[in-house]
Amino acid sequence: MKIICIGRNYIDHINEMQSAKPKEPIFFLKPDTALLKDNSPLYYPRFTKNLHYELELVVKISKNGKTIQPQFAHKYYQEITLGIDFTARDLQEQCKVKGLPWEIAKSFDHSAAVGTFVSIHQLKDNKNIRFNLKKNQETVQEGSSNQMIFTIDEIIAYISQFMTLKTGDLIFTGTPAGVGPVNIGDRLIATLEDKELLNFEIK
Ligand code: MG
Repeated sequence: MKIICIGRNYIDHINEMQSAKPKEPIFFLKPDTALLKDNSPLYYPRFTKNLHYELELVVKISKNGKTIQPQFAHKYYQEITLGIDFTARDLQEQCKVKGLPWEIAKSFDHSAAVGTFVSIHQLKDNKNIRFNLKKNQETVQEGSSNQMIFTIDEIIAYISQFMTLKTGDLIFTGTPAGVGPVNIGDRLIATLEDKELLNFEIK
């Protein structure tokens, strides 16, 4: 399976990063070795001094497809969850300055935390999926799918022009504003609507 991550999909986050609003979705990949599941702790990597959380809605692809039309994209997923796109912000800044790929900053082991999946059919309103992240009891990120520049269906249609989506692939759909650092000992708790989907520690 592969993990596809969308960058710059919320205006407030684009502004906080002083980035430009994209005309088309921007995506990058993480390998399966990036997965962090079952609320396992994340061990702070040695190669960064500025590890950031990015809370994101995560979609699980439920059947194979390529060149999927936006109006049919909803047939390709049944479950979503919350995930954290861990980012070595110091390394990412160096990559950006040099115009290099982001893998060392984004795709390292356990950089993709994923929570418990929930059926999208259980949600009240698929267009307005609300979620938040608490770090040590304090709310640090809040978002809703209605703030996304590109919808889940548009993202699926776009990615599938370039690469076949397969059952079990995960798509991280971008982070709202409020990204920030984590430190050893921090606890991260992510909630979707009223369901706690992630609860783990940085060690
Ligand atoms: Mg991200």
